[in-house]
Amino acid sequence: MRSEIDLSEPRDLVYEAFEGEPGPCPQCGGRLLQTNQTYSVSTRRGRKVRDSFIMGSDFGWFCGGCPVVVINSHKVRQMLAHSVPHWDVGNEFCVEGIVDLDAIPENKRHLPLGGDDNPIPLINFKSPHAPPPLNKRDRQKRRKLLASKLKERRKQGKQTALDGA
Ligand SMILES: [Zn+2]
Repeated sequence: MRSEIDLSEPRDLVYEAFEGEPGPCPQCGGRLLQTNQTYSVSTRRGRKVRDSFIMGSDFGWFCGGCPVVVINSHKVRQMLAHSVPHWDVGNEFCVEGIVDLDAIPENKRHLPLGGDDNPIPLINFKSPHAPPPLNKRDRQKRRKLLASKLKERRKQGKQTALDGA
């Protein structure tokens, strides 16, 4: 099933939020192929990593012409919100790489994945820690937060000046 995609090749990660299909490859204009893969996803709140987990999904679209994979960040967000409500999913996520389940030796497949004697065969992306761009609402929220913080700081600044006088 996965014959067309060479998983061993490190891939460039591109986040896009879309419904349906992403269109052509943003790098080479080639055709993107949606496949089901197993990914390692970490979530963070601010700069702190909250949780990291393995999820199988078809949110990745692989280019046949160059090593780009387009991740549908819209879909990842949806999955995080629906399938793992009890996890600390933070407000940001980062797809770290593809888990190559076929690389696990036959005699270790019964062991828990990620244990000492069965490490996760993770193929990292070339830019694994670049978080997806914030959507418009998040950006607005962040700007508001920043503005209110600045206001507060200014107020405090005045207060200290008065106290000093
Ligand atoms: Zn391409």
